[in-house]
Amino acid sequence: MKYLLLILLTFSYLKAFDYNLNPLKLNENSYYFYGKEEYFSPLNGGDIANTSFIITKNSVILIDTGSSHEYGLQLKKAIEKITSKPIKYIINTHHHPDHFLGNSAFSQSDIFATSYTKEEIEKNGDLYIVNLVNIVQRAMKNTKIKAPNKELNSKILDFDDYKLEVLYLDGHTKSDVALFDLQTKILYSADLVFFKRTPATAHADIQKWIKSLEELQKINYSILVSGHGVATSSKEPIKENISYLKFLDETLRQSAKKGLDIFEILEKPIPKEFESFTMFKEEFERSIINLYPSYEQKYE
Ligand SMILES: [Zn+2]
Repeated sequence: MKYLLLILLTFSYLKAFDYNLNPLKLNENSYYFYGKEEYFSPLNGGDIANTSFIITKNSVILIDTGSSHEYGLQLKKAIEKITSKPIKYIINTHHHPDHFLGNSAFSQSDIFATSYTKEEIEKNGDLYIVNLVNIVQRAMKNTKIKAPNKELNSKILDFDDYKLEVLYLDGHTKSDVALFDLQTKILYSADLVFFKRTPATAHADIQKWIKSLEELQKINYSILVSGHGVATSSKEPIKENISYLKFLDETLRQSAKKGLDIFEILEKPIPKEFESFTMFKEEFERSIINLYPSYEQKYE
């Protein structure tokens, strides 16, 4: 019995983690893979962010590559089931590990990112891997850093006559790229928008993030594909995100003025409008712990 268990355990470790990736159709030539609204875990293999692809006349454009080499490989296979066109162009929207660690599965592609995102990936990529090997474990096997090789700096990306408008924004991180597909009017907002999923603020600047969201609000999109949460044609998500960030900012500011400690802030009831957000407790707690010290310095 003991040996059988050992054999089973060894076998399951050697077998690649199965992400079970199924592309969801946005329109005729545009798809996305929905990432689970969860924190990194061995069970989800780090599949917690959305990735998207667009099939053009001669090629495929991929937006983000997921959280591991294995995710990248399975992403590639899932795309190849739909089209035989080569995945020529990849865009890394920002430097968070759930969005770029699948890069190494795409040896033939050009990978675009802003100079800041590229530098962060080169500088801190290995640290992200060490951290995720501890949390996600098996699915991280063979994950190595592959940094972007092309710098994003033009306002319009023209990929074989297929045009994407690039919006250079910030606030979720120091450099966040959103892409507006000029053919389909689909907006790929990356992590500047979380739809019904509580925003993550590990590298956030709240005021800059609100400004960026106000920019995105001006775009008349057909569908919004956020970094986390389902794709939607609703105009609500950007408004909801602004409202959440203002609530977070106001809570932190008022609490610092009153001299509350972190536990007292966390005891407060969740406002009704955010009750339906997934991961509220975890992300709100992380945000308070991360951001409160700077508010205490400013307002106490
Ligand atoms: Zn992010």
